[in-house]
Amino acid sequence: MAAEQIYPAIVASPGLVRGPLFIDRAAAAVEAEDSPEEALDRLTAAAATARQQLERLAAEADGDAREILEFQIELLGDPELIAPARAAVEAGAAAASAWRTAIGSLIEDYESDDDHYFQARATDLKDLRDRVLRALSGDAETTPRTVDGIYVAEDLAPSRFLEIDWSRFKGAALTGGSTAGHVAILARARGVPMLIGLEARLDSLGEGADAVLDAEDGRLVVAPTPGHLDNYQARIATREATLAAERALLPKPAITASGARVAVMVNVDDPAVLDAIDPAHCDGIGLARSELQFYGPIEKTGSLPDEETQYRLYSRLVKWADGRPVTVRTLDAGADKPIPGLTREGETNPFLGVRGLRLSLARPEVFKVQLRALARAAAEGTLKVMFPMVTAPWEFDAACEHFDHALAELRIEGAAAAMPALGMMVEVPAAALGVARFDADFFSIGSNDLIQYVTAVNREEKRLVQLFDPLDPGVLELIARVADHGRGEGKEVSLCGDMASDPRCIPALLQAGLRSLSVAPAALGRAKAAVAAWDGKG
Ligand code: PEP
Ligand code: MG
Repeated sequence: MAAEQIYPAIVASPGLVRGPLFIDRAAAAVEAEDSPEEALDRLTAAAATARQQLERLAAEADGDAREILEFQIELLGDPELIAPARAAVEAGAAAASAWRTAIGSLIEDYESDDDHYFQARATDLKDLRDRVLRALSGDAETTPRTVDGIYVAEDLAPSRFLEIDWSRFKGAALTGGSTAGHVAILARARGVPMLIGLEARLDSLGEGADAVLDAEDGRLVVAPTPGHLDNYQARIATREATLAAERALLPKPAITASGARVAVMVNVDDPAVLDAIDPAHCDGIGLARSELQFYGPIEKTGSLPDEETQYRLYSRLVKWADGRPVTVRTLDAGADKPIPGLTREGETNPFLGVRGLRLSLARPEVFKVQLRALARAAAEGTLKVMFPMVTAPWEFDAACEHFDHALAELRIEGAAAAMPALGMMVEVPAAALGVARFDADFFSIGSNDLIQYVTAVNREEKRLVQLFDPLDPGVLELIARVADHGRGEGKEVSLCGDMASDPRCIPALLQAGLRSLSVAPAALGRAKAAVAAWDGKG
């Protein structure tokens, strides 16, 4: 029996599963011995097959996933990529190696680029490389057939992720990847346990070997010892029972053990997650982070998403929610969410700099486009709009005035538009302490930033996680203060930071007086379970 091997990795999507390893060695295409004419025909046909596959996927995808697929389709038609491969084939090279070399140099360029965006795009290029190679090797079956296994690969492009039937796999482990990458977002949204940064070489892993994907502690355990296996089986059984109990709660409203109704909404970072959620399982969207739509376009085309593009997104959210409230946050760029060309470079402390609403007020021409799109979508359902990083009442008032102007302009133009409820994020301690000074329709506590500013700990600093404490009494006091104010004024106070998705924090939030939470899509069930377990005694 093979000895146990433990490979460390980073958790991109939590879970704990056991199954045989399936190793995707897509790039092993055969080198056929054919004439240059035949090789050229095969390369052309393989590119056409790849294109058809991508177009099929693009027709069903949306949001970021669609953009990536369109990028790949565009590249396939790019003469700068295809011409060197054709020239090499005409000079006698085999189709597969000519293609690998041509796209390989582009992959290297992207990987060595200083820009994070281009580095991330290299994954999409590798996917394109492998797709054409698979077609060249006559492998029409692009979805592996293994049932209940663990999918292992170098990296997984979003297009490949979308193509795989995940009911046939229990999870995935990648040697590449990034937690903030799109594939990790898709995996979390669909609840596919995923490890990235796996410290293993694919050729050292045995195809079909029994393994445990431990996406709780971050490791892949191949050929576990009987003792470890017993332990894992017990943990897996407990986890499955918990997940089943949480799933059973999804269609029900969240009610505490003492009978109080708690609204549980979802946070939407990438609209693609909506495909995986039944709107009837939540009380609406408590936070739509609108900045995601700003990243891709400005880096690719140098311009920001226009009014029509933004309107389509907001309108889609409203339609999805089917009468439930949808809270869109205006652009929250800067600090941990820089947008090249829009946010300021060289700030000594970007977390205390021109970010969130401060940036929107400094760039009224950008703000106006977003507000017009929001006012138009507000005519179609219960849209609510909130401003991020508000510090002083005059900023909130100025933002409302911008909204008034945008709406007046649309009305003069005869466009359908409406005034939504206007609220604010409470994530700056001054705003939490002085909450009574703000004339907002509703409040949503951004605990991620609130904790960082109260504890003076950068939210991205991994070495200080112990100090970044959501249950710090100072943080809880501010949350209770805002909740109190809302209750007194009859105004909604919700919390949309990561704390709301953490069952260890939910009792403290309910104790602080909150009755509305907005959570990550995958946390809906566990948040409802934590609410149901709360008996009002702390
Ligand atoms: C927060 O700060 O808690 C929040 C929800 O906003 P973000 O994480 O996008 O800054
Ligand atoms: Mg924030």
